[in-house]
Amino acid sequence: MAGRILIADNVPTNRIILKVKLSSAFYDVTQARTGQEALKIARETRPNLIILDGDLGDMTGYDACAALKADPVTAHIPIAIITPAQKPEAKIAALKAGADEFLSKPLDELTLTARVRALMRASATSEELRRRNETAHALGFSEAASHYASPGKIALIGSTSEEAMSWRAGLKGMVHDEITIERADHLLESIYYGKVADLYVISAQAGGSSEGLRLISDLRARETTRSAGIVVVHGPQDRREALMALDLGANDLITRGADPEEMALRLRTQMRRKKEADLLKLTLDEGLRLATRDKLTGLFNRHYAMPHLEKLARDARENHQHFAVMLLDIDKFKSVNDTYGHATGDAVLIDVANRLNDSLRGMDLLARFGGEEFLVCMPMTTLMEARAVAERLRTAICARPSAIAADGTPVTVSASIGLAMGGTESHDIDTLLEIADRALYAAKAEGRNQVTLGSHAA
Ligand code: GH3
Ligand code: MG
Ligand code: MG
Repeated sequence: MAGRILIADNVPTNRIILKVKLSSAFYDVTQARTGQEALKIARETRPNLIILDGDLGDMTGYDACAALKADPVTAHIPIAIITPAQKPEAKIAALKAGADEFLSKPLDELTLTARVRALMRASATSEELRRRNETAHALGFSEAASHYASPGKIALIGSTSEEAMSWRAGLKGMVHDEITIERADHLLESIYYGKVADLYVISAQAGGSSEGLRLISDLRARETTRSAGIVVVHGPQDRREALMALDLGANDLITRGADPEEMALRLRTQMRRKKEADLLKLTLDEGLRLATRDKLTGLFNRHYAMPHLEKLARDARENHQHFAVMLLDIDKFKSVNDTYGHATGDAVLIDVANRLNDSLRGMDLLARFGGEEFLVCMPMTTLMEARAVAERLRTAICARPSAIAADGTPVTVSASIGLAMGGTESHDIDTLLEIADRALYAAKAEGRNQVTLGSHAA
């Protein structure tokens, strides 16, 4: 997928070496010579990934990282810090500064590109989530309430249960999430039964050779664990598997025997990502629901129905299929309100909506189009079928009372239906709705409680 990477290092030769390595993997690389320059470029160009050396001349890479993570404009960009080899405290400092990753010198090509690919993927996901959130905002959807970190669930899958227990002992007091120990050969089964974690820590050797790798693919393939964080623990002998794990969708790697603090910090980063993704999705789903559904009846609203109908009309034209559109309006509804009160009117609307819903196929779209007016869109439907359905809907509504008024009176209503056929001639949906509307008007004029077919000649 390639992408844009900003590298910052005060030593020119280091920059050049890194640039050559990354450019050969088709990344578009920009360079900064100082920390200040890096902050400025990052703000202006919002790269997909930032790689900072520990020493930037005017400031440390850790300080630059902390500044970038504190700035809302750049906070979502993944950052890797290059740390000296054999200095565990430098790694911890990098993670504490909010870095998503550290790269130890000397940078070996295989590790570098595998890590960069994993970070790029993280960036693509967070970019997409950010975009969707912006779209939601543009449509006026509600914003995420707040995003404090509530405790999550971490599942540990060691190569042996002793290994998993030692991880758990190391993490004690450093993470506030619920930690469980799972067995590799039972993991998918417990997921099937609804036991799902936010993060999976998996030994590269769990369940025998390449079983750990298979678990990663399985977790990614399942709906409930698709967005879970996956961290792979590996030793020097399974380094190749570990790099493959990153390409299979693992989010991070931990060296076997690493400092528990490092593990805790990495898990915290992954947990934050997972929670953010969950939150954005939740906000969007709730917003979408509110924006597309009618509050009283739960049916789709006009805002949703119009573009849907547009799409239906386009598909029908391309596939040379007929489709039907109906406008249904409750007769003398005003008098229901006037006689029995608004609450009874509401109850009637809900009941009529349910009856219509029950009488239609799954592929038909039913929407509340206005006050007591409903729209039905029926794909792949001939005139004969449409007439039969319209008649069925009409009888379903007047067959028995829709509500009992406060004084005990059963309230029965009827409806008039205007029918229009689409797909045969090339007219837009506005014209089609006009035809249905005229037919509805005619049905009302001819005495109500009937179905009228609209004709294209005005
Ligand atoms: P017609 O047979 O010609 O369609 O007569 P009608 O009384 O149904 O038509 P009219 O358009 O005059 O009245 C529609 C009424 O529907 C007016 C409005 O107060 C009522 N209405 C619209 N939305 C709601 C709602 O959500 N709840 C209730 N209770 N009434 C509603
Ligand atoms: Mg009416
Ligand atoms: Mg009306």
